[in-house]
Amino acid sequence: MTNLTSRAYTLIQRLFTKKKGRIGPALVGPDYSGYCFVCGGQDFSSAVVLWQELIDEWGISPEETEYINRQQGTTCNRCHNNLRSIALAKAIVTKYNFSGPLSYFLKTWLGKNLKILSINTAGGLHEILKNLKNYQVAEYPEYDMTKLSFADETFDLVIHSDTLEHVPSPVLGLQECRRVLIAKGSCIFTIPIIIGRLSADRKGKKASYHGNSATLSNDWAVQTEYGADAWTEGFHAGFSNVQIHCLEFPSAFAIQFNK
Ligand SMILES: [Zn+2]
Repeated sequence: MTNLTSRAYTLIQRLFTKKKGRIGPALVGPDYSGYCFVCGGQDFSSAVVLWQELIDEWGISPEETEYINRQQGTTCNRCHNNLRSIALAKAIVTKYNFSGPLSYFLKTWLGKNLKILSINTAGGLHEILKNLKNYQVAEYPEYDMTKLSFADETFDLVIHSDTLEHVPSPVLGLQECRRVLIAKGSCIFTIPIIIGRLSADRKGKKASYHGNSATLSNDWAVQTEYGADAWTEGFHAGFSNVQIHCLEFPSAFAIQFNK
């Protein structure tokens, strides 16, 4: 963590401590010291990305704020992917028993020939996926995730990154992901999860955005605030198996639903 970022964290911790009238939580841990499953890099930087309005709307504690900041704001200095994209990359290489970063896997025969659908551009992974011959992107919200135009059993993988929380009917979206997967295919994705609570939908609450509310359309309002039961949606959508890949607890997970 840079000195500047470290000072920003300390300042935020102090602000929370004053506001809530209690001692601020300890930092979750040192800067991410692992390995980038996108490019193989080992140097990371951290930045605070959450802002007070979103923190208040979400009602998250200082500790929860810190681990979401790490998930979104801790990035690889080489490829600039953040922990959530790196968690997604880890899940993909793990599914195919590949013991290297995703960028290397995509040079193998198996990697090159995978049929991948990305709902949105899956964070920074799009940059290394976009040249694959069987890669397709369906941009939400212009492209409705609950009504995909692809034939049944078209893709080996469907991926998405921090998209499902914006979909009004996430189970319908997951059912569509399942429909377009081959028999042994997987839907692998990230969502922001607050692990100490259950999922709740924001219907009836003030609209909340994971971005600048002045520039984002209503399609990017948060529909579901995911909690510890997020994995159950896969079974509601008809998947037979769920795996949760952890890059760093509790800040960076990817969920894998198997058909
Ligand atoms: Zn990297």
